Amino acid sequence: MNDCIFCKIVKGEIPSKKVYEDELVYAFYDIAPAAPVHVLIVPKEHLSGMNEAEEKHEKLLGHILLTAQKLAKTLGVAEDGYRIINNCGEKAGQTVFHMHFHLLAGAQFTNLV
Ligand code: 5GP
Ligand code: ZN
Repeated sequence: MNDCIFCKIVKGEIPSKKVYEDELVYAFYDIAPAAPVHVLIVPKEHLSGMNEAEEKHEKLLGHILLTAQKLAKTLGVAEDGYRIINNCGEKAGQTVFHMHFHLLAGAQFTNLV
């Protein structure tokens, strides 16, 4: 996707603070953190959102969740607790239409959103 900001971040065309990268995913710090730890985990493959995920993405989706768990451990927040959030669609608050999962931690979250 030529005009997708997260595709550009994955390709290094837009700078980001990388946390982790492998053959399937790229993880980086959110530019406007909503919590002391706020990492975005995105697939290197462009999918606009969860609605576009198919059976063939089963491994990718599992890999994203396990990557989030591993990053939580690496960043030292696994024991205290963390949230993994995916916003799908405008009413859910999705603003970047390249599928991504938020890893949020370092604060006491009380409400659902
Ligand atoms: P959404 O609202 O779509 O679930 O989440 C999009 C997230 O991407 C937001 O938290 C926003 O701060 C973050 N974001 C948007 N543009 C950039 C950018 O250019 N760099 C980084 N690191 N984060 C971005
Ligand atoms: Zn993209």
